[in-house]
Amino acid sequence: MSDKPHQNLAVIGHVDHGKSTMVGRLLFETGSVPEHVIEQHREEAEEKGKGGFEFAYVMDNLAEERERGVTIDIAHQEFDTDEYYFTIVDCPGHRDFVKNMITGASQADNAVLVVAADDGVAPQTREHVFLARTLGIDELIVAVNKMDVVDYSEDTYKQVVSDVTDLLKQVQFDTDDASFIPTSAFEGDNVSEHSENTPWYDGETLLESLNSLPEPQPPTDAPLRLPIQDVYTISGIGTVPVGRIETGTMNTGDNVSFQPSDVGGEVKTIEMHHEEVPSAEPGDNVGFNVRGIGKDDIRRGDVCGPADDPPSVAETFTAQVVVMQHPSVITAGYTPVFHAHTAQVACTIESIDKKMDPSSGEVAEENPDFIQSGDAAVVTVRPQKPLSIEPSSEIPELGSFAVRDMGQTIAAGKVLDVNE
Ligand code: GDP
Repeated sequence: MSDKPHQNLAVIGHVDHGKSTMVGRLLFETGSVPEHVIEQHREEAEEKGKGGFEFAYVMDNLAEERERGVTIDIAHQEFDTDEYYFTIVDCPGHRDFVKNMITGASQADNAVLVVAADDGVAPQTREHVFLARTLGIDELIVAVNKMDVVDYSEDTYKQVVSDVTDLLKQVQFDTDDASFIPTSAFEGDNVSEHSENTPWYDGETLLESLNSLPEPQPPTDAPLRLPIQDVYTISGIGTVPVGRIETGTMNTGDNVSFQPSDVGGEVKTIEMHHEEVPSAEPGDNVGFNVRGIGKDDIRRGDVCGPADDPPSVAETFTAQVVVMQHPSVITAGYTPVFHAHTAQVACTIESIDKKMDPSSGEVAEENPDFIQSGDAAVVTVRPQKPLSIEPSSEIPELGSFAVRDMGQTIAAGKVLDVNE
């Protein structure tokens, strides 16, 4: 591990626009190709008596993983730049991407959007940009890729930049914060070095843009929110709930409340990495002990917060959802399982209030009869059991959810309002 600040990076974009190739190129040019990949290919190259173009090693490996059906191929790769240590998080092609992002397993801070210059904005470009927006990605770096295929044409580049800018505006991304780079992941243009093939471009390379991303700021200002992962009984200490602090800080002596279990008390001890600590911050995985709380008083899915600003419990809530893949249609009354932080609760979609036009962000229809894959909508949701969830405008970390049914993520969303 490195002591540079950490960035979780998502690489998003339409299938075949070059996401895997770009990740391979980044790993290669930062000298981060995993040792086993180099070794494997060195052996193969020696057997076949060929020397090595090492970038091909990376690509072969990614291609092999793909053939084995591992679409997660580019995930969990790591590389570092001068400023940051990057972890590539799951890509949206992978079926658990949305769930992982929402449950915090791999929350991305920023994203690289790959758009092939010869194809331009395509359906998944829209879908991923919309998801990135919904899931709280801060900044986008747009790689206008496959520039070699369009003969490094400045006109084509400008057209794609203009189309992507329109798309970003439609979903209310701050386009001033987005950077655009003409790249070829395959040839390596403008990835780590300025390319002679694009003399008309004097902006940053992809690595320079990655270096100049803002440092992710831990949300210490917000009130404490600590979703409970598990509850243990440890001899000599007693009941020890464990989980990761999403926002705020926890100090010994604080009075805390667990919701929706609706119990509370004073924090006696906090432990992190097997050591007692006086306080803990966002991102810290902690086990702690609260005076008077027994193992059966609390459970996974509870959220711990300050007693005087407890996590809210929703009777109903309104949310903006994006339907990603549902075999038929979703109508009022549908009751799938909602995954929010560590909670999994069956929730009924009580009403579909508005359907939005994903390309303009405007209301397309009031009270539609149904929604289906590709639709964005505002819905009213009633949890079938108590669920602690927050408006995403107040505590984004606890304001998003994935909707699962039939073993897959069928929708994702963020909470607009909570009726307690
Ligand atoms: P993904 O589905 O977005 O991960 O796309 P891949 O990285 O698998 O790339 C799809 C195809 O496009 C592969 O055959 C790549 O070799 C090719 N490709 C990716 N980037 C470039 C590029 O910059 N130039 C050219 N000519 N081909 C590319």
